[in-house]
Amino acid sequence: MMSTEAGPVEPVTAESGSAAASAAAASFAALLSKIDYLGPTDVENIRQAYRFADEAHLGQLRKNGDPYITHPIAVAAQCAEWKLDAQALMAALMHDAIEDCGVTKQEIVERFGAPVAELVDGLTKLERLEFTSREQNQAESFRKMLLAMAKDVRVILIKLADRTHNMRTMGDMPRDKWHRISSETLEIYAPIAHRLGLNFTYRELQDLSFRFLHPWRYEVLARALEKARGRRRDLIARVQHEVEDAFARHSMPVRILGREKTLYSVYRKMDSKHLSFAQVTDIYGFRIVVPELTDCYTALGLLHQLYKPLPGKFRDYVAIPKVNGYQSLHTTLVGPFGTNIEFQLRTHSMDVVAESGVAAHWLYKANEPGSDTSQRLGTQWLQSLLDIQQETHDASEFWDHIKIDLFPDAVYVFTPKSKILSLPRGATVVDFAYAIHSDVGHRTVGVRINGEQHPLRTELNNGDVVEVITDDKAEPNPAWLSFVKTGRARSKIRHHLKAVAQDKAIELGERMLRQAIRSEGIARLPDEEGEQSAVWDKLLRFTGNKNRVELLSDIGMGRRIAGMVGKKLAVLLGEIGVKPDAVLISRERYNATGEESMAQGVVTLDGSEGVSVQYASCCKPIPGDKIVGYLGRGEGLVVHAEDCPTARRLMARDAERFIEVEWADEPVRSFETDVIVTVTNGKGVLARVALSIASAEADITHVNMGDEPAQTATDIRFSVAVRDRQHLADVLRSLKRTPSVVKAQRFKAAPRN
Ligand code: MN
Repeated sequence: MMSTEAGPVEPVTAESGSAAASAAAASFAALLSKIDYLGPTDVENIRQAYRFADEAHLGQLRKNGDPYITHPIAVAAQCAEWKLDAQALMAALMHDAIEDCGVTKQEIVERFGAPVAELVDGLTKLERLEFTSREQNQAESFRKMLLAMAKDVRVILIKLADRTHNMRTMGDMPRDKWHRISSETLEIYAPIAHRLGLNFTYRELQDLSFRFLHPWRYEVLARALEKARGRRRDLIARVQHEVEDAFARHSMPVRILGREKTLYSVYRKMDSKHLSFAQVTDIYGFRIVVPELTDCYTALGLLHQLYKPLPGKFRDYVAIPKVNGYQSLHTTLVGPFGTNIEFQLRTHSMDVVAESGVAAHWLYKANEPGSDTSQRLGTQWLQSLLDIQQETHDASEFWDHIKIDLFPDAVYVFTPKSKILSLPRGATVVDFAYAIHSDVGHRTVGVRINGEQHPLRTELNNGDVVEVITDDKAEPNPAWLSFVKTGRARSKIRHHLKAVAQDKAIELGERMLRQAIRSEGIARLPDEEGEQSAVWDKLLRFTGNKNRVELLSDIGMGRRIAGMVGKKLAVLLGEIGVKPDAVLISRERYNATGEESMAQGVVTLDGSEGVSVQYASCCKPIPGDKIVGYLGRGEGLVVHAEDCPTARRLMARDAERFIEVEWADEPVRSFETDVIVTVTNGKGVLARVALSIASAEADITHVNMGDEPAQTATDIRFSVAVRDRQHLADVLRSLKRTPSVVKAQRFKAAPRN
């Protein structure tokens, strides 16, 4: 690519005359000769970008001693081959300026505009991504991440041009770098070129990688191939002649090109299919480019008359294009001397797409303004992309569309050890944690994304480095279920919560059953082992439970009433001679305030109970309220305020399902309750009220405004989380002092009937 061909040499730097400056100027002159498809303003902008980049890279040298600027110029020249627009060429010239020369994005915005700066910035980001060391065997994920991170297809094209030039000049690099860079090119960049249909670049990258990965094998194969071609020169000439003749007789103007296999494809076939060199290379290929689409089929007929087709080798990629837009008819024929010859037939536009893929768009725009060739770009995928590009003139929207086709809904992120994980788009930190391991998920308490703390519900972006912070004592929060995206996280959280609920229910059930038999005058539950164990067996037969744990869990969940089970248990214990203690009975039943009974009989609540205990949504009790516990059917213990109308109604109907509950001295969390705030309408009222609640150190968990804005006064209902009644009183006092607040009071639901 380092062209030194003659041309108008531009004196561009103050050091013109020096060898370095003239080498740079010469290669820029070569670039200029390639951009005659652009207008004078564009050319002038490119010249400015060149001066800017040249100054930035001043004094830096390539490994071969050339001034560094020759590299960006070569990259821009490749982009010019694809006829990319001026913005892309400017970005190509400045693609290493941010990373290597301390130029800022802002400087580029100011001098060349935001679109060019965005392109350069995108390239810089990809460059940095490359340096993030990654685990082996993740080429595919890395490739997808690269593609997903680029916001504009031009970024990828410039990147491919950059890589192509670096591969072409690899010989200047130290040998110990060859392997890493070449295998990266082979695994990541060549497939990207292929996927975007840039077949020429694809083959070149493969061959160059092969050459630097296995220099010796490359040499041997190259020489062998050269020899084989020499031997068969007569055959190739004869086929060429016969085919030309056949088309001339039917007056169809075609271009016939001999197709050479790339060294890498020969090598790979020999390697993967265990074929000999002769088996791989004894196949010759020709490409025939015809004027019109229908000519493909006519030409096929002509060829099949000329040589006998090999059965099972015909492929119609014209009617059904490959996903990357490739179109051609393929057939294999038996030629002179019984040699197999592969033919590809296609139109000129198909040929351009086949060689340049996505870049064909710019090639067309540049070469044939207003021509009908674009409508002959038959492939649907590419065609739809080109339509979008034409309609929007927006390369990033264009690219979004390609991306949706390439990898619909994924986001690619790094673990701190540079392993890449693929998650569905919209996935959060919690999804990430569960994707690593369910133990990590369960214990997640925080996260650093790219080194900064973020909330757990944060959605991840491509390329994020995500470090989960765990705590051994942490447990999954049921609220996570409202934002996780992956089924894995959801089911793991659910499963864990269920298991925890089960444990809590068993514990609660045991406490309740113990309390129940104390009321029968028996101090403790029968032993699980020894002679008393038979009592459990009988009790289980009575209740129909499989085992003791299931019975206790049923009691805890309210599926069975502790009092009734307790009565039966007392009878069974009586049968084996355990007599009720009359003192205990009277103390439990008539003197329930005794210290001991309080300690053992009443269920104490501190807010850590999890899902086996619910705080009723009708009255929303908070510490300090007098409360009662109701064993709902199958829903565990429901805690109501004692004066709650709903609780009163249940009490009248279902008294035996109520148990005594009390607040712990120091609850471990805050509790939600509702307040009604009546305000006069006016600007910023809601904000003032919210601020007032916050200043009393309470969290607002929900706001509900009536929709009668026409009235002078409005009721706003807030759900607030408070420590206890005292705290709630503080909140209400703070509210009453707030301007525009007419009234503030705790909300209590009206009795339902
Ligand atoms: Mn570069």
